[in-house]
Amino acid sequence: MEKLLLTWFAEHGRDLPWRSTRDPYAILVSEIMLQQTQVERVVPRYLAWLERWPTVESLAAASPADVIRAWQGLGYNRRALNLHGAARLIAAEGWPADLTALPGVGRYTAAALRRFAFAEDVLPVDVNVERVLRRTGATFGPVAAHALMDLGATVCIARIPRCRVCPLAAHCPSRGIREAPARKQGPFEGSFRQRRAAALRAVAEGPRPLAELDGEAVSALERDGLVRVAGDLVSLPGDATPPTLVAGVRPRTPRVPHRAR
Ligand code: SF4
Repeated sequence: MEKLLLTWFAEHGRDLPWRSTRDPYAILVSEIMLQQTQVERVVPRYLAWLERWPTVESLAAASPADVIRAWQGLGYNRRALNLHGAARLIAAEGWPADLTALPGVGRYTAAALRRFAFAEDVLPVDVNVERVLRRTGATFGPVAAHALMDLGATVCIARIPRCRVCPLAAHCPSRGIREAPARKQGPFEGSFRQRRAAALRAVAEGPRPLAELDGEAVSALERDGLVRVAGDLVSLPGDATPPTLVAGVRPRTPRVPHRAR
């Protein structure tokens, strides 16, 4: 099956910018961005990120505020701080032997780095790869990693696989079988995630008085280290804008208590 898959991949594989590099830092940026954001949205942001911070040292030297600002629109902003923290660790101490020691790097991301950056003999199994392995019941080697990802993302898709155009159909025991829809994530609109995103967007434009913001969202952002609250002023961590220059800042008022999400 692997040979069939690789032949298909040679013609139909996706041309993605992080596939033409072995730079571990660039691969790390792509993998952290891809954790919860679609490929199409990641491509331009990945390119812009590397243009602004082309090396791990340049990212390590950036302020958290600039990193959070540059992440806006990708969602799950905690990843920006993870990436920044990982860059600082790597710049100071080099790449750790256990890559999961880096913030934001779990078992899958570590395997992807080991395969795509360090050419190790491991197969990173993301949700798409897992689906193809499960449905075909076949074994594939690390060389098929990108091909498995692309087949899972474009042909062997979650609910209604496109078996008619699948290069593995003749050998696949799951050919033509549909799966029950997976439980979808709740809508973003009106969610607490949306409120957090809106509050962070406002603070990313410049420090803001707490009273102008959604207090509960600010508390959650503060817990995650994405904003800092000093008196009545909310700003990004490490933001250079001096609080005294911000107009309309009121004297200290009682903070909104932390509440569970
Ligand atoms: S034949 Fe269908 S179920 Fe089997 S790998 Fe191809 S797309 Fe997936």
